[in-house]
Amino acid sequence: MHKELENTHKELENTHKELDSIRWEGNVRRVEPYVPGEQPKKPGIIKLNTNECPYPPAPGVREKLSQMDADQFRLYPDTSAGALAEALCEYYHISQDQLFIGVGSDDVLAMAFLTFFNSEKPIYFPDITYSFYDVWAQLYRIPYETKTLTGDFKIRKEDYLEENGGIIIPNPNAPTGILEELEVLEEIIGANPGSVVIIDEAYVDFGGRSCLELIGKYDNLLVVQTFSKSRSMAGMRIGFAMGNPKLISYLNDAKFSFNSYTMNMPSIVLGAEAVKDTAYFQETVGKIIATRERVKMELKKLGFSFPDSKGNFIFASHEKVAAKEIFAALKEKGIFVRFWDRQRIDNHLRITVGTEEEMDIMLAHLKEIVEA
Ligand SMILES: *Cc1c(COP(=O)(O)O)cnc(C)c1O
Repeated sequence: MHKELENTHKELENTHKELDSIRWEGNVRRVEPYVPGEQPKKPGIIKLNTNECPYPPAPGVREKLSQMDADQFRLYPDTSAGALAEALCEYYHISQDQLFIGVGSDDVLAMAFLTFFNSEKPIYFPDITYSFYDVWAQLYRIPYETKTLTGDFKIRKEDYLEENGGIIIPNPNAPTGILEELEVLEEIIGANPGSVVIIDEAYVDFGGRSCLELIGKYDNLLVVQTFSKSRSMAGMRIGFAMGNPKLISYLNDAKFSFNSYTMNMPSIVLGAEAVKDTAYFQETVGKIIATRERVKMELKKLGFSFPDSKGNFIFASHEKVAAKEIFAALKEKGIFVRFWDRQRIDNHLRITVGTEEEMDIMLAHLKEIVEA
């Protein structure tokens, strides 16, 4: 009898616990998070899966790093990221009130979604694009509508001319690498004075034309760029946005209501060094473009087809062998590329452009895989 009572008591207790968990879980802001590409730790692998730059940052970055005094870490960093802001303003010929700096462009974009996409009307972005956009929209409860790209992955301008709560388009687009003409983007920006249009230019340095030249003309345009790809500093987490001072001041208001000290001291100092070395930047980007164009020709010979990428990656599919199979076979050889098991793109691989040597090794393996 005593035992039975004890059991009943336990059961009751468990039911209470369950109810409690249901009660608080009902209030959780649930979200299905973004899944970044793998960062494998194994030595000797060839990593072509997250569009990092295969070359080191500018030599000045290493030098500055070696002179850095850890004692300075006692102090909070400069909330305006002054040194970095100055270098960027000089490089892009803008003033500091046209510039916003964040912890990688992911942080900048997350802040921009929070600040500018605050309408009941849906925001628009392409159905095949950077897969973080719908995650932020879900996190912030922003209504959104994806616009279907054409069969050859091009955006349809008309899709972005209806009334909306905001627009985000990457140029070049990811993961296709397709560059949209500035004139087309300008038409979209100009047709939407009632909403903010964000152009995500993570890959623009690899042969695209930036919308930066339009920020003086359109007060609803925000151009976002990053140090992660073309400036070889993904690990430092530096991104920035350029736009008219009013947009930037709203962005800063949101950011300073969140965390004033987002940019740490090393990224401010080292980021500035990277921007100052224009020659090195051009050399690195030039090498990647040259390698990309060579790899395109080699891939074609092997039976691959792909949109004409202007990024540091190629979005390729093979005429005979399934992408999933190639992905697994390459991984087996220690070569990591990106594959998404998602409708419309599940027969494509996104291959980051690495060094010449890395590409040669990858091409040799691809040849074996597709001719087996
Ligand atoms: C890589 C990437 C980003 C984010 O880069 P950060 O490392 O956060 O600066 C943003 N948008 C696109 C389209 C990207 O490919």
